[in-house]
Amino acid sequence: MEEWEQLEIVREQSGMLKLKFLEKSSRLSVLCLGSHPDDIEIGCGGTILRLAEGSDVQFYWSVLSGNAERSKEARKGANAFLENVRSKKVDIQQFRESYFPFVGAHIKDYFEKLKKEFSPDLILTHYSNDAHQDHRLIADLTWNTFRDHFILEYEVPKYDGDLGIPNFYVHLDEPLVQMKTGLISSIFKTQKEKQWFTEETFRSILRIRGIESNSPSKYAEAFHCRKIVF
Ligand SMILES: [Zn+2]
Repeated sequence: MEEWEQLEIVREQSGMLKLKFLEKSSRLSVLCLGSHPDDIEIGCGGTILRLAEGSDVQFYWSVLSGNAERSKEARKGANAFLENVRSKKVDIQQFRESYFPFVGAHIKDYFEKLKKEFSPDLILTHYSNDAHQDHRLIADLTWNTFRDHFILEYEVPKYDGDLGIPNFYVHLDEPLVQMKTGLISSIFKTQKEKQWFTEETFRSILRIRGIESNSPSKYAEAFHCRKIVF
């Protein structure tokens, strides 16, 4: 596929090899999958902001659940993170939250339809070992529906304590960190009562991943990349 030529490896001044698919001239189609409103923004909002700077990037943003109020927040979140993107589709579904494994057949039907509609170069989805059953089902369906795709699994910090050891990092500079954390806290007002739903939480995990990836700006988002083919 022609698009994959954008996945070029270059040597940085430091000597470290880097995968270059975030260049502004890259032509990319990106599928973002989230079980609940705010998952995509928390897990990979900074990476999306970087990708959205590209001149030829197409997005399909799919959130699988949300009541009326939360669906509005989900749409607002997608539109804010993709503000300058010309080619985008935002789809908010209403599968029953916390019951995903029990309505899995219907969600699988949705994935099959999605596959016919959009052919992504890159898929951003939940972490396969996430402790939340809704997140895990979406990760499983991503892998069993998209069989020839580049998939990155993002992480969502939570009470369950299920953060793993990631192996793929995207550096974020300070303005992007501010934009990510600021947008999340200003948009998802229904979540404000949760003690962990703070800008401090979202910045902290970026800082830790920045340490692990030697980020010049100190911050990074991290992913689990199970498979990469060249
Ligand atoms: Zn979630």
